[in-house]
Amino acid sequence: MKTIGLLGGMSWESTVGYYRAINAGVKKTLGGFHSAKIVLYSVDFAQIEKLQRDGDWEGTAAVLCEAALSIQAAGAEFLLLCTNTMHKVAPEIEKAITISLLHIADATGEALVRNGIQTAGLLGTAFTMEHNFYKGRLRERYGLDVLVPDEADRRLVHQVIFQELCLGKIEPDSRTQFLHIINRLAEQGAEAVILGCTEIGMLVSQEDTPVKLFDTTEIHAAKAVEQSLFDPQK
Ligand code: GLU
Repeated sequence: MKTIGLLGGMSWESTVGYYRAINAGVKKTLGGFHSAKIVLYSVDFAQIEKLQRDGDWEGTAAVLCEAALSIQAAGAEFLLLCTNTMHKVAPEIEKAITISLLHIADATGEALVRNGIQTAGLLGTAFTMEHNFYKGRLRERYGLDVLVPDEADRRLVHQVIFQELCLGKIEPDSRTQFLHIINRLAEQGAEAVILGCTEIGMLVSQEDTPVKLFDTTEIHAAKAVEQSLFDPQK
């Protein structure tokens, strides 16, 4: 079993989900008392959130590169960044470390392709929905068409992520709003919707909607389990 490195805390609410899903996945596969070998470094999200708001991506990269090096030094054999948004600085992190980064958009893109999806809606922070690091990777590497909500809906999704979900607040009204947005994406042609923010699965789940959902926390965690237990190259 390979030791999994988790760079979490963005927010810690979603890192809990990673920890649970990865351990449950290893237990399901190996049985008994088996659990995952994990090195977890959890950052102070207040620092990251402020740097994001200031547009200081270099600053976020510096914090995350240092954390990633600590995870590597502690014995992790590959790394997960437990957030979609901060994959904006994935190239800088990959340059800083020698272990591999299991990119969340690759895990997601593979899952979409495996399920025969060609056009997917994307919900996430404004950075994830509007910048190119995530949508572009899905388009270029996996040939996917990616639809994002209109401006007003993007603003609402971003606000709910930062003012509620990252603070552990689950509001039924926000769930209703998210389900309307998911429906609008489906009406525009999305065959599925990516929950492209690691907290959204706390608010909406597959039981809430007939539209097929791809929860990036679940997908990323499952891929980590697979790589830890079955990666033949390691
Ligand atoms: N966890 C979130 C994501 O998956 C948002 C928090 C952040 O900005 O890192 O994008």
